Amino acid sequence: KVIDSMSEISAVGHRIVQGAEVFKETCLVTDEVIDQIDALAELAPVHNHPHALALRACKAVIPAGTPQVVVFDTAFHSTMPRKAYLYGLPYECYTDLHVRKYGFHGTSHSFVSKRAVDFLGLDKDNSKVIVCHLGNGSSISAVVNGQCVDTTMGLTPLEGVVMGTRSGNIDPAIVEFIAKKENLDIDGVMNVLNKKSGVAGMSGVSSDFRDLEAAYNEGNERAIAAVEVFSYRVAKYIGAYAAAMNGVDAIAFTAGIGENTSFVREKIMAYLGYLGIKIDRVTNDKTRGVEALISTADSSVKVCVIPTNEELAICRETVKLVG
Ligand code: AMP
Repeated sequence: KVIDSMSEISAVGHRIVQGAEVFKETCLVTDEVIDQIDALAELAPVHNHPHALALRACKAVIPAGTPQVVVFDTAFHSTMPRKAYLYGLPYECYTDLHVRKYGFHGTSHSFVSKRAVDFLGLDKDNSKVIVCHLGNGSSISAVVNGQCVDTTMGLTPLEGVVMGTRSGNIDPAIVEFIAKKENLDIDGVMNVLNKKSGVAGMSGVSSDFRDLEAAYNEGNERAIAAVEVFSYRVAKYIGAYAAAMNGVDAIAFTAGIGENTSFVREKIMAYLGYLGIKIDRVTNDKTRGVEALISTADSSVKVCVIPTNEELAICRETVKLVG
């Protein structure tokens, strides 16, 4: 038991996955806000309706005078310029259907990019940071002077790098091809892309990089292929974001894989010698789940590990709003 009564709770911070263009920053929970979050369920079917149910349940049991706050996964990415968030689709898909890149893991990208700037002693108003949030779901963001300018996840968390069980980017025509060949409807194909793909589907071993590393070391060809594809895709996005920002000062690794899996970090960094990146192999090898600089003193880009802490970030946002 943590508390004796609900009155001990000073404020509540809720994490909400999809804020779309309606919620660009943290705000207080009202009945109208809950209804709007519910209305966005179309854009995040697995998350937003359950969020709305939880918000209504909390409102019912927590005293009315206790402020409740919603913090959106998409909010940090709302500073992306149009050229980054528009898809090459008919413009009405954006204006009428709200189809655009929203990005996710925003609380983590915000927390880690800020912490990397502090940890590395960069000038926050003159900084270009790439955050690699590599976990079961993975996303990468490009952050200039504390503001997100691009990120890999899109309308949904399916876009971007290859993930644990999600495919990440594929040729969109593959959807029709698999549907016809396997006699699947849209839900069936989406199930393949979300749940049966990624490093788990490629390797046939696991979505967990601890298992993949073991299989890799045993010479399992499919596990080797999965790790190679994962690392290569991440490295390509880092290159793309260095181009998008016209440079990069720091790269920060975070989340389960980013914080713990040194051999994958090393594989990714091996592609980036052209940026003048040099990894300190000994420090990289022993860094697990702690803040550390893993590049050498003469590396032209600083590379670090920053453990993410979304709960702390949500707590800070909540305190900032309710005072
Ligand atoms: P997350 O979604 O951030 O919780 O990350 C989960 C993933 O991180 C797991 O599926 C593993 O692939 C990876 N992971 C977590 N802990 C470790 C660890 N100690 N060593 C290697 N990989 C880990």
